[in-house]
Amino acid sequence: MARMKFLCDAERCIECQACVTACKNEHEVPWGVNRRRVIVMDDGVPGEKAVSVACMHCTDAPCAAVCPVDCFYTTDDGVVLHDKDLCIGCGYCFYACPFGAPQFPQQTAFGVRGKMDKCTFCAGGPEPAHSEAEQVKYGTNRLAEGKLPLCAEMCATKALIAGDGNVLSDIYRKRLIKRGGRPQTWGWQAAYGQEA
Ligand code: SF4
Ligand code: SF4
Repeated sequence: MARMKFLCDAERCIECQACVTACKNEHEVPWGVNRRRVIVMDDGVPGEKAVSVACMHCTDAPCAAVCPVDCFYTTDDGVVLHDKDLCIGCGYCFYACPFGAPQFPQQTAFGVRGKMDKCTFCAGGPEPAHSEAEQVKYGTNRLAEGKLPLCAEMCATKALIAGDGNVLSDIYRKRLIKRGGRPQTWGWQAAYGQEA
């Protein structure tokens, strides 16, 4: 059985935001909620790096450990999903998550957050696959169609890859060997100047 993971290769990310846009569009994510973000380090100086971050579908998920109403579950493919009908919007998962993945649609003076929303690895939720309820609450279920998450599919430089963790490790290992174990100074060079 596959254990689905994301991997973002900072040497290849060119900060184009295509992954963010693809996710927003595919799932019609509401305004103010970002299931995926591109984080830039040392912006504008030589050596600048960018990584695309979303829920990493942790093997031993801290969000699930702290959720008081047990919203979270892990699919047979290792994807961490949650049930919005159970969520009480307490925000514990946001504080527990090391990646800031859980998002909330509302910010009000009284702290009402609304139902938590996060990356589903394009695997929908507890509703029947391809049902209207699933589409509205969780977005498109691409995994049920045998497709990988659209963010990774849209990444032109293949910085962001998705799939079984063992396969991703092999791909990254081969890239590292080609680079001689050294990081590139610029992501552009890695993306367009050579194959690694
Ligand atoms: S929401 Fe955060 S803690 Fe939970 S599985 Fe995703 S990355 Fe891990
Ligand atoms: S906000 Fe929802 S998903 Fe997060 S810990 Fe609270 S009840 Fe669970």
